[in-house]
Amino acid sequence: MKSGFVSIFGKPNAGKSTLLNAIMGEKLAIVSPKVQTTRHRIKGIVTTPEYQIIFSDTPGIIEPKYKLQEKMMHAVQQAQEDTDVAVLLVDINENLEEANTLFSSLRLKAPAIVAINKLDTAKAEKKEAALSFFRGQPYCKEVVGISALKGAQVDDLLKTIVQYMPEGEPFFAEDEMTDLPTRFFVAEMIREKIFYLFKDEIPYHTTVIVREFKEKATLVKIVADIVVQRESQKAILLGEGGKMIKQLGTDARKDIEQFIGQKVFLELFVKVKPKWRDNDFMLKEYGYH
Ligand code: GDP
Ligand code: MG
Repeated sequence: MKSGFVSIFGKPNAGKSTLLNAIMGEKLAIVSPKVQTTRHRIKGIVTTPEYQIIFSDTPGIIEPKYKLQEKMMHAVQQAQEDTDVAVLLVDINENLEEANTLFSSLRLKAPAIVAINKLDTAKAEKKEAALSFFRGQPYCKEVVGISALKGAQVDDLLKTIVQYMPEGEPFFAEDEMTDLPTRFFVAEMIREKIFYLFKDEIPYHTTVIVREFKEKATLVKIVADIVVQRESQKAILLGEGGKMIKQLGTDARKDIEQFIGQKVFLELFVKVKPKWRDNDFMLKEYGYH
């Protein structure tokens, strides 16, 4: 039996969440056309008779600008510490030299597999060039070309990962799909809807906290706060006569019901807490530590 921790590293938009979803066959991480939606380490566990892989989808590799981004880089560093195998994910359409510089700067201790993603969007010569470019890099043990979106060659990637994993007993019981609580996924689903419904900076200035999660006889009652920095952002989230928040609530409720397999009564509140992004205390309170 093989068992170990695998981290997926890559720039925002490389396809980390999409890959994890393809692997898990479950909607565990949120996927958005915009960058930086994954703030937490999200883990999924794949267990078969031969192996157990514990995956984490780290936040995108970025230059720290705000305090929040520093925390994200810290999460990237932490992921490094307990990684048995690193998957370095790169979009074939990215600047490969730049990606190479980033991957080198991680100074990985674990064996690294470069996965070149979005091959469905590239011509054969481009694929070949990218594969041989990474094959020559000192940190790179293997190179695999995939399409996370189409689920192509994801099995090959899994097999390659397992090859480099240590022998050991499983860390988690077979029926445990994830070690993160349902509340967290509920908050992420609401956040996902905010990304789809609101433009520009709004999603980056909001956080979602699930305050109440109560299982009743026929449904689950969920109360969540959407925290913003300014009154003007609150007004946008509410919309004319509460139109937007209503839409958000309906969309999120449908996803949550599908996820937990029960009817849901969802209550959303918009709260203003100025400058939560730069406040260390609030970051702790909201779980970014
Ligand atoms: P993350 O920021 O690294 O987690 O990236 P996401 O998983 O959120 O993906 C970013 C965007 O790239 C989304 O619009 C995905 O649908 C898209 N994407 C991911 N993988 C593929 C792929 O294999 N092919 C194509 N064409 N698009 C992809
Ligand atoms: Mg992501």
